Amino acid sequence: MPTAAPVGRERRLEIAQGQAPFAAYVTCSDSRVSPEILFGRGLGELFIIRNAGNTVDTVALGSIEYAVAELGVPLIVVMGHESCGAVKAAKAVVDDNATFPGSIGRMIEPIIPAVLEVRGSEGDMLDNAIRANVSRVVKQLRTTTDPLLLDPQAAGKLKVVGAHYDLDTGCLRTASLVPHSRILAG
Ligand SMILES: [Zn+2]
Repeated sequence: MPTAAPVGRERRLEIAQGQAPFAAYVTCSDSRVSPEILFGRGLGELFIIRNAGNTVDTVALGSIEYAVAELGVPLIVVMGHESCGAVKAAKAVVDDNATFPGSIGRMIEPIIPAVLEVRGSEGDMLDNAIRANVSRVVKQLRTTTDPLLLDPQAAGKLKVVGAHYDLDTGCLRTASLVPHSRILAG
């Protein structure tokens, strides 16, 4: 897909004095879901928070608050994706009592409630858990007790939405509103 993403010298100089990204993305570290590449975006356009499993801990929350309070970002997108390894790992903990070395086990702990939430539901359990994980993070950001995020949402200046990215088709669907919105060709 040809892209007109602003990444050249002119753009660098333009934004060297300051940034005004139009959206913040909370998404997975998975190498297949880089937001700038998926959406053909360039320098200074997206404020990105990434970790395996797109959860929001203190570091992520502070980053999001900075984007909103200091940079005036009006939109936060929490994006999960098909076949997420972090959610798979959380599911393995629940289903098989799996354990993981290093800090991986602690990292996926916040995803376990999403896996538990969809137990017994219809359809693909992994897919359901991936979507539930996004919904939970969206809810977390919508109901945070800090005025940094609450006030702009109450004033209609900030929206928090969930999205699901399909690896095979390149489709991005918002969690509840748009049933099928193709964003990538091929
Ligand atoms: Zn993932």
